[in-house]
Amino acid sequence: MKHFLTILLFTISYTAFSQETKDIKSTTGNILPIRGFCIAAPQTKDVDAFIKFIEEELAPRSVNTLILRVDFNYQYESHPELRDSSALSKREVKKLVSACKKNNIKIIPQVNLLGHQSWAGRIGNLLKVYPEFDETPNVKMPEKYVWPNADGLYCKSYCPLHPNVHNVVFAVVDEICEVFEAEAFHAGMDEVFYIGEAQCPRCSGRDKAELFAGEVRTIRDHLAAKERKLWIWGDRLIDGKTTGMGEWEASYNNTYRAVDMIPKDVIICDWHYERPDQTPVYFAMKGLSVVTCPWRNPGTAVLQVQDMIKFRNSATPEMKERYLGMVQTIWSGAGQFLDSYYGKRPESQVNSPVNCFKALYTEIQKPVEAR
Ligand SMILES: [Zn+2]
Repeated sequence: MKHFLTILLFTISYTAFSQETKDIKSTTGNILPIRGFCIAAPQTKDVDAFIKFIEEELAPRSVNTLILRVDFNYQYESHPELRDSSALSKREVKKLVSACKKNNIKIIPQVNLLGHQSWAGRIGNLLKVYPEFDETPNVKMPEKYVWPNADGLYCKSYCPLHPNVHNVVFAVVDEICEVFEAEAFHAGMDEVFYIGEAQCPRCSGRDKAELFAGEVRTIRDHLAAKERKLWIWGDRLIDGKTTGMGEWEASYNNTYRAVDMIPKDVIICDWHYERPDQTPVYFAMKGLSVVTCPWRNPGTAVLQVQDMIKFRNSATPEMKERYLGMVQTIWSGAGQFLDSYYGKRPESQVNSPVNCFKALYTEIQKPVEAR
């Protein structure tokens, strides 16, 4: 009898659970396979608060993909010389991994490769420790950074043809994928302004699109050997001049032809913050899978969700599956974002990452019949 009751209770709760799962699937899961959130990995002091946010805010909104920008905020054992002065321990990372596993969220760690090796007046750890990897050693870091500047310095790049650069960065990539138990890795690769520079003895005179595509392929092949997928930002693959999208969210330095040279299993994070540009169609037609990434404009994010759903509904069966979904991007640190989210930091503007995140997920979770 006791067993019977146990079985009965189990059956009732299982039925309720599977009904709930089915409901979530019927309203969201089938519409957008990727429901993502992208933020800097938290500092040690913010790990517990961030886990609370995962459990109370991301999981109930059916977020299933968390891109964590780690860079050198981890106590790497393969290259301890690259660690930030304060960096996450293995134990802290495992706490994040376990919270995400429990909530069916896949973590994709990010370390910026190729570009973004400096920021404003500050050089990143890779080029600080290995200055020989610098694509533009002749460009000195300014004491006071201003844009525009005579050197065209936005951020530095490493030289993709330096014979030792991949020995170092791939050790870091392997270690971060392993500790996060990741099936995919995000290599950044956005806003690469320095590439194929005239003074680089290895790259000068080479085709910039080929150099960019070559680096994408090298990283992709390295990951594929361990059955991991590569994700990158999409801006270098869009022609900035012809589209009028400019030199930030698209390319003015002739890298865009790489869109026809990179492997088709690289996932494109297509970021557009002010206008809902229809670029997912461009990527899907090139055979590439794509997610759309808003930031702080709730109105744009809502239109982008509607577009993504429309693309999935109206595309050919061949293209439909390439429209993967949406990823909310947060460009402050995790601690600062949590302060805004929980009202510790006043936010007066309608256009804010917090409001954008909420509007995006309200739209994603809208039942089919309400669309
Ligand atoms: Zn070079």
